[in-house]
This record gives sequence, structure tokens and C-alpha cells, in this order.
Amino acid sequence: MHTILVVNAGSSSVKYQLIDPETEARLASGLVERIGEADGRLVHRSDDGRSEERSVHVPDHTSAFSAMVDAFERAGTPVMALGIQAVGHRVVQGGSVFIAPTRIDDAVAEQILDLGSLAPLHNPGQYQAIVAARQMLPEVPHVAVFDTAFHQSMPERAYSYAIDAEVAEHHGIRRYGFHGTSHQVVSRRAAEYLGRPLESLRQIVLHLGNGASMCAIDGGRSMDTSMGFTPLEGLVMGTRSGDIDPGALLHLLRAGYSADELDRLLNHESGLIGYTGSGDFRDVRAAAAGGDAAARLAIEVYVHRIRHYLGAYLVELGGADTVVFTAGVGENNAALRAEVCAGLEWFGIRIDPERNASSASGARRISSHDSRVEVLVVTTDEEAEIARQTRALVG
Ligand code: ADP
Repeated sequence: MHTILVVNAGSSSVKYQLIDPETEARLASGLVERIGEADGRLVHRSDDGRSEERSVHVPDHTSAFSAMVDAFERAGTPVMALGIQAVGHRVVQGGSVFIAPTRIDDAVAEQILDLGSLAPLHNPGQYQAIVAARQMLPEVPHVAVFDTAFHQSMPERAYSYAIDAEVAEHHGIRRYGFHGTSHQVVSRRAAEYLGRPLESLRQIVLHLGNGASMCAIDGGRSMDTSMGFTPLEGLVMGTRSGDIDPGALLHLLRAGYSADELDRLLNHESGLIGYTGSGDFRDVRAAAAGGDAAARLAIEVYVHRIRHYLGAYLVELGGADTVVFTAGVGENNAALRAEVCAGLEWFGIRIDPERNASSASGARRISSHDSRVEVLVVTTDEEAEIARQTRALVG
């Protein structure tokens, strides 16, 4: 059997999945976390449902990969017997350089490291994972799949910030967009579900997870997206503010906040958690139902921001054929979907309450039979898409 190993690394963790590219089935998965700390931990799940959790000594990414190899071994499937045909690496920031999945050689790895200046929290850890994985599995091709690549089709009017052009050029300040792999797989699956060619559809995808972004897609190409230079712009998220007047940041800087403090405020202490103390949408929903005013406001702002982008993308695309909800909140919270779509009949968007309330999994329609726009819920699967793109590249 041929398999693809998908690696999603952070600065202190490595998530991995072993995927059968024929069926997109997940054969095993795991997580090594707290790399570089005294109390490293590994969780490994096999396809038969068995899982193993243990403490591991993982001073760096190389040792994290050794821990993963050991875990496969202990589960009775040594890595050499897994039929790994290629390794697909998720890379957050591909800048303007990488517009498609790319086979990794030394030069590509160095470019990924260099792009760390744009994504200091992501690319350096992903680079380390790439180096370690290439050492561990030197015989197989390694492929980088970039969160930003799908959005490289955005027209300049959508990705350019109206600031001094030389400053923008010098520092690479433009909108890159993120979650591209998710927007891509979800829009393709939506077209498959409808049995219509991807090329014929204008789609608006709402990826609402801990991180959240929306994407306007015309014929399978990203035309605009709500995340920008970093994954901070756009929607209200679990712990991120989304859009805020940069003037407010200047004000806080002058009031004595340091850059690091602003970073923490906007990335970790804002969004849902900033209003309510929890970044988990379920908690916020429960608190709102119990009458908590801050939680109610959090949801109102969350929905308002989504509808702001929905309106913008309906105009940009000249209408839409599909509106697609995905990721943790989008797939699971019917009330949120109803709130987002309320009162949009004039735009051809009409939800069927019964269909919306169903919790069936996979792709499904939640719009009513007389809705001009097909409103869908589609499960995202970034790892399966990374495996698919990796295999497509290596053949
Ligand atoms: P990530 O961005 O980390 O991949 P997910 O896509 O898993 O995140 O989404 C996590 C979010 O989904 C959390 O806010 C969580 O509360 C929310 N979520 C998960 N299940 C449900 C549910 N049944 N109802 C409402 N929200 C849910």
C-alpha cells in the first residue's frame, strides 16, 4: 500500500497523519507536544481506534520525529513498513514566492526559513520539522503545501494595502490570506456535492474554527479573503480580534504598550476570549443562553463581522451560487448559521430550519428548495487535501 505522511508542525509541536491517498482515509494520527520543554508528551492513534499517550523527551524537532517513529513501531507498524510514498508538510507562509505545492530541496527549505520574517510564529518551527523529517525519511520526496498559495490568485486590488508603495514593497506588506488549503478543499467538495463543475461556481466559504476566515471564490480561484498580512485580520476569532482600526494600536503604543504586549492582546486576549474569558464558541453560546450580556455581545459582534464580509463578497462576485459553512463552529452550530443567514432572502439566501438543525455529517444542503443560493455545510479536511496535493505533485 502507498501512503502519504502529512506533517503539521508548530514551534513546539508536531501533528502528523498517515493518509491513504486513494480513499483519503486516515490510517493513523498523532501529536508530539511541548517540544523543548521538560514535559514532552506524545499521543498516537492507530486506525483500529487504539491510542497511546506517554511522556517523551523531545528537546527538538528531530527528537520529536524519533518519538513518532517509535510510536509507529510500538503500534506494530514500523515506519519502513508503512509504504510512505511522500511527506506533505503544511507551511503557513509562502509569501509571494510559492503559488503552488512545491517539492522541497535545500534551497526551498531555506526560502521557507527566510519567510519566517513574515511568520515568526510559524515558519521557523515548520522549517525545523522539514529538516528533521528529511533526515528521518531521506528516500522519499517531501512537499510543502502553503496556507497562502491558494490566495495568490487574488487580484492586486484585493491584496494591496493603500500605504506608501515603497514601504509596502520593502517589507512585503500586502494581504496574503491563510486557510487556503481548507478553502480549496471545501469549495471543491461543495462542487462535487452539487454535481456541478467547480469552474462554473461563485462560492463564499466561511471557515469558522478557532481561527476564522472567509473566502470569495470564482471558478475555483480565490478572489478575496478576510485574513491579510497575518492571520489576525478579518473575522472575530476565538482569541484574535480580527479587524481593528490601526489607529487604535498607535494609540495603545503611545499609551505605553510594547509591541509584544500588543501582539499578546490582539492574538491571545481578544475575540471571544476578550469578551467572555473563553475562546471556545460552545462556552460562549452557553453563557449567552444563560443571560450573560458579554457573551451575547460577543456573538452579536461575531455574526455582524461575518455578515459584513458576506455582503462584501456577494458584491465582489456579483452574487453567489453557494455559501458554504465549515470548521468547528461552521459545521456544528446551527444557531450561528441561522443568525448569519437571517433576513437575506433578497439576496437569494433562504435557510431551511429543519435541514439546518440536522447533524448529519459530510456535505449537506441547508438551504430551502426555493433558495437561489445553495447554502451548504461541508466538512473541511486540510490533511487529506495536503495528501492529495502532495501526491498530485510527486505522481
Ligand atoms: P481549529 O481552528 O483549531 O482547527 P476547529 O475547526 O476545531 O478549530 O473549531 C474549534 C471551534 O469549534 C471552537 O470554538 C469550538 O467551540 C467550536 N465547536 C466545536 N464543536 C462545536 C459544537 N458542537 N457547537 C458549537 N461550536 C463547536
